[in-house]
Amino acid sequence: MTKTIAVLPGDGIGPEIIAEAVKVLETLQNDFGLAVQLEPGLVGGAAIDATGYPLPADTLELVKKADAVLLGAVGGAKWERLPIARRPEKGLLGLRSELELFANLRPALLFSELANASTLKPEIVAGLDILIVRELTGGIYFGQPRGIRTLDNGERQGFNTLVYSESEIERIARVAFESAEKRQKRLCSVDKANVLEATEFWREIVTRVSQDYPNVQLTHMYVDNAAMQLVRAPKQFDVIVTTNMFGDILSDLASQLTGSIGMLPSASLDANNKGMYEPIHGSAPDIAGQNIANPLATILSLAMMLRYSLNQPELATTVENAVSQVLRDGLRTKDIQEPGQNTVSTREMGEAVVAALRAK
Ligand code: NAD
Repeated sequence: MTKTIAVLPGDGIGPEIIAEAVKVLETLQNDFGLAVQLEPGLVGGAAIDATGYPLPADTLELVKKADAVLLGAVGGAKWERLPIARRPEKGLLGLRSELELFANLRPALLFSELANASTLKPEIVAGLDILIVRELTGGIYFGQPRGIRTLDNGERQGFNTLVYSESEIERIARVAFESAEKRQKRLCSVDKANVLEATEFWREIVTRVSQDYPNVQLTHMYVDNAAMQLVRAPKQFDVIVTTNMFGDILSDLASQLTGSIGMLPSASLDANNKGMYEPIHGSAPDIAGQNIANPLATILSLAMMLRYSLNQPELATTVENAVSQVLRDGLRTKDIQEPGQNTVSTREMGEAVVAALRAK
């Protein structure tokens, strides 16, 4: 059955990198028999310019009926003076909450060809392959009450609430255990159970859920230690599951182990594996319109879509292998360039991936 993919380029380098991912999708349609229909939509600053809203009703309708969403990036200086509720980033948060995308999967995978691009020593990161599963719609970023208030003594106070219900922990734990089952079967749950009751509860529920996954080895680690271990010996991890805020911080840290932000994809999934797929980077206004952005994070996000939402694991591997191939062939955009290497443009990189696919 033909699946519908909503394609939302967004702002800055978004349209440039999405154009290359669309070329890859079209190759999969024409040469590999992938039955998909692409439906374009507006989000972020582009949507504000056209309609006044960062997430217009048309786009919301489109993403709700689509089987998966491919997103570029949103944001830029042009819209920074707007009130927070009308800014491009609100479009992104709206997509996550409207689609109930509670599970954010961020692989930190180092292609062996890029071992020298990391700030860590090659022997520490060579072969790195971690999956961080971050809870995305709960925890302290959403807990009530929150705000800034004035106390009786006249002093002002800022406050937020860290709250997790049993069902929220259980559903993200299941995504993490199921991901670990498909990998090296090791799951590390990261919390601060020694200080925060909400994460003591997190640990209790993750431990209970582990009884349903006897093949997966579960360990627990405090978040401060996890941050240190990710830099000291990152290859000890297979899958990490953690709360919204800890995941936000640790996944950015992990992304840097692999060298360039232009290489890292992400998936945000709902309870039925419907997902939104996007590179982890932003709209990079500093290089927008120059045809120099790295499109590989977006193309690898498309591979995640094939695996998680379109049930095409073999095609996902085919796309990942094509990316490896172009790196082996020495193609480098500016962000992953090493001394003495020539650089290719955004379009040349996308076309090289298409050529590598066609050569299969
Ligand atoms: P950024 O990720 O856009 O850029 C950070 C640095 O990385 C820049 O130097 C940029 O040139 C470089 N970079 C990013 N992607 C690259 C790529 N594919 N190839 C080569 N280099 C790349 O972060 P920022 O500069 O802090 O934010 C810029 C805008 O993006 C802001 O408006 C911000 O709100 C928005 N943003 C959006 C998202 C999203 O849409 N998911 C995420 C983060 C930031």
